[in-house]
Amino acid sequence: MQTRPLAGKTALITGSTSGIGLGIAQALAAEGANIVFNGFGDAAQIADLQKQTAAQFGVKTAYFGADMTKPHEIEQMMTDTIAQFGSVDILVNNAGIQHVATIEDFPVERWDAVIAINLTSAFHTTRLALPAMKQKNWGRIINIASAHGLVASAGKSAYVASKHGIVGLTKVTALENAQTGITCNAICPGWVLTPLVQKQVDARAAANNISIDQAKHELLLEKQPSGEFVTPEQLGALAVFLCSDAAAQVRGVAWNMDGGWVAQ
Ligand code: NAD
Repeated sequence: MQTRPLAGKTALITGSTSGIGLGIAQALAAEGANIVFNGFGDAAQIADLQKQTAAQFGVKTAYFGADMTKPHEIEQMMTDTIAQFGSVDILVNNAGIQHVATIEDFPVERWDAVIAINLTSAFHTTRLALPAMKQKNWGRIINIASAHGLVASAGKSAYVASKHGIVGLTKVTALENAQTGITCNAICPGWVLTPLVQKQVDARAAANNISIDQAKHELLLEKQPSGEFVTPEQLGALAVFLCSDAAAQVRGVAWNMDGGWVAQ
């Protein structure tokens, strides 16, 4: 049997109990990577997810429920992962939340939470993953930014600031490691129909007294020229490419997969 390209590597994906993170975890597992899950959710469902992924792809899996707003929990997760697997070879900083309000109405506590989860957590995981990556002279850091890492929308000050911020962090991480086998890149998705976006669809349907389908249609029409959602599977395939040898000189890129959103 041919060895899978990521066999023997360990991938930690933050926020991988749902949506895009889960899609990326499954795509990396299919290439042979051991998977460390993180994120919130029902304990029994997460245990099933771990077991199912291990059985389906023949890889090892683990789960650490670190809250990405808490640096000491992030540190513990990184220490435990390195103790169990030896290193984090592939780090996908994906955990993220959204809050929609104008700046003057934005709850201060929500601002702090969005910045902590979407941006600061990636600083912590990255600083803690780099020493073991450097020892092996191999690593892949993939930051899940957003089309909102490249352009803005009204009502999303914290989200847009965090996503522009993580694109900046991506470039600095790439440059500081440019002469090593460690690359860092960002993926900038457009609309993906995950629980994070479903909430915004539901809010639009309620506010405008329209059906869920109509709300989805309008949401896409406003920003995404393709009129179609991007899928977690498509994003997983891009993450696999960024982990490949072919992508060894892709460094510091913010790669949009957005149905044409930022081409406008
Ligand atoms: P989701 O809500 O389906 O998943 C978010 C994940 O993050 C979940 O696993 C959740 O448990 C985890 N999480 C949330 N708060 C956490 C915390 N404090 N600590 C640990 N884990 C936490 O959302 P998604 O749409 O899959 O989003 C994933 C990433 O993709 C986010 O960074 C988001 O900003 C980004 N993104 C999403 C879209 C989209 O259209 N869905 C578009 C662009 C970018």
